[in-house]
Amino acid sequence: MAWKSLDDMDLAGKVVLTRVDINVPMEDGRVTDMTRIERIAPTVADILKAGGKPVLMAHFDRPKGKVVPSMSLEPLVPALSGTFGVPVRFAADCIGAEAKKAVAALPEGEVLLLENTRFHPGEEKNDPEFAASLAALGEIFCNDAFSAAHRAHGSTEGIARLLPACAGRLMAAELSALEAALGAPKRPVVAVVGGAKVSTKLDLLGNLVRKVDHLVIGGGMANTFLAAKGIGVGKSLCEHDMTGTAKEILAKAGEASCEIVLPEDIVVAREFRAGAENETLAADACPEDAMILDAGPETVKRIAAVFEGAKTLIWNGPLGAFEISPFDAATNAAAAKAAELTRNGALISVAGGGDTVSALNRADAAKDFTYVSSAGGAFLEWMEGKTLPGVAALEQ
Ligand code: AMP
Repeated sequence: MAWKSLDDMDLAGKVVLTRVDINVPMEDGRVTDMTRIERIAPTVADILKAGGKPVLMAHFDRPKGKVVPSMSLEPLVPALSGTFGVPVRFAADCIGAEAKKAVAALPEGEVLLLENTRFHPGEEKNDPEFAASLAALGEIFCNDAFSAAHRAHGSTEGIARLLPACAGRLMAAELSALEAALGAPKRPVVAVVGGAKVSTKLDLLGNLVRKVDHLVIGGGMANTFLAAKGIGVGKSLCEHDMTGTAKEILAKAGEASCEIVLPEDIVVAREFRAGAENETLAADACPEDAMILDAGPETVKRIAAVFEGAKTLIWNGPLGAFEISPFDAATNAAAAKAAELTRNGALISVAGGGDTVSALNRADAAKDFTYVSSAGGAFLEWMEGKTLPGVAALEQ
């Protein structure tokens, strides 16, 4: 992968059109989780330090090409300026006369936020005219929105073809971490894939069995694999119509010498609720009227041993119903093991995907991972081996 970073660009006195992802959760007009804003702060600071003028482009929610006042980016201005420590101005449109005027009036040392790019239908259609109107506002394009890079939109892909383009700090960190985990990783590599369903992660599993040395399958999707092996799973979440696909994945793994690690023991309950009465059984002993909600301690020992022998770990999806204790035990224990090995310098650990980040945070392990991606869909598509248009456009 060859892309330019901010350090490769001459930013002094230039308007730097910077694509960011500030699609943050809001309640009553206030930002409730600042993570995404904090993560772009280094890029904004470095552009300012180099004498550039950061003009932020971003989407918010899904206005579908129309102006939807409740999806305006304007309420984010106080949170942005509080985090960046400099004044943040706002332009009520991302293209046209309004935007041009605001860019022209932007003094050095300040930041300009443009209104929601998705208020224009040209954004999601990647309309060349829309991209050209954006590009006309500045001199350099900086993409710091890895999480939006799986979409070929005007502000992520189209504009990159029209201006000298570079990766922002967050984008560069994501790309380096992902390259270290799957591009040219230190072997052996272990992947953990968990979560609810096989059907949503088929491409992911198909790609990983070709690339990793061990694949740990957990969560609801492990039940489908157990069923594929002819093991009864009672009332567990299980896609019985996917057992054929699960068998194909197992066969592919065999051909590629990828070891599949499935639960050896299981924690079962009769109700899906926190604190539900439960028992730990062998993986082939799930009672007819029970459901599997977590992997058991023997499985965790096996996973820990695989982690100990590995140099690189890539993780997406919980090993059990981690939102309801005690069915978070396997996820927590495996996460703690990965965190410990990473702290000791024995493992490179990369994780991503919405539920995964909250599961690792719950386990208090995220802070010790080498890299935790804030991107959901883009991280998954990258793990699936797909080309991300926003990244491809930076590789020139
Ligand atoms: P995903 O969005 O595919 O990563 O799936 C995450 C969801 O899978 C979480 O809400 C978990 O509670 C759920 N999950 C994991 N293991 C199980 C299980 N054994 N039974 C039911 N749900 C599960």
